[in-house]
Amino acid sequence: MRLDESTWTDARDAETELALLPVGSTEQHGPHAPLGVDSLTAEAIAEAGADRYAADSGDEPVVGPTIPVGIAEEHRAFDGTLWVSEDTFRSYVRETVESLAAHGFDRIVVVNGHGGNTEAIRELCARVSRDGDAYAAGYTWFDAVDFDAFGHAGPAETAVIRHLHPELIRDDRLDEAGDGAADGWGEWVAGTNLAYDSDEFTDSGVVGDPRDGDAALGEELLDSAAAELSKLLEAVARRGR
Ligand SMILES: [Zn+2]
Repeated sequence: MRLDESTWTDARDAETELALLPVGSTEQHGPHAPLGVDSLTAEAIAEAGADRYAADSGDEPVVGPTIPVGIAEEHRAFDGTLWVSEDTFRSYVRETVESLAAHGFDRIVVVNGHGGNTEAIRELCARVSRDGDAYAAGYTWFDAVDFDAFGHAGPAETAVIRHLHPELIRDDRLDEAGDGAADGWGEWVAGTNLAYDSDEFTDSGVVGDPRDGDAALGEELLDSAAAELSKLLEAVARRGR
């Protein structure tokens, strides 16, 4: 049940204790993929995971609205990228989670599409679970699926968007994206990443080769992310506080 398409009476009558909150980012994903990749992906995975869990268990979770701006200052050199501070993000997402709990949705999974958000989500979910009236856990889809060459706006993310919204991938800019891409994230010396911003190591904003990401791979990744999320929902639903 999508909260933004439901009425307050629907929310009142919902029998589930489970809620999902998709969290994305508005940030550069190379010249070929849209700024909203992380939000579009988090939302699609949250919905697919909730559907799969509902089909298996008969319990239909609530899916909250997608939070569109996250911790993405590392991409600030690229136009259109938006960000908030870690403190603002933690407070905003935690208070949103707590308001879900106030309505009785007190098992919450934050479904994350952006690496820069991961640590803050873990921290705020711990705070809610330790001190609040709910149990919350963060799920970052690319940590759950089995795929090595993740990168940034590389094969995996390009493939997922190609599957979900093929019209949003600019095929005529794939060579520019791939030729200006870095092989890995950061500028590492002695176990230390010297780079704070992504333009220090990638010209096009991309890490990995987006030309390797076709729609079939995207479908496979999305399917596996939804299956893992459904597994997590089952464990969170069973878990005591
Ligand atoms: Zn991304």
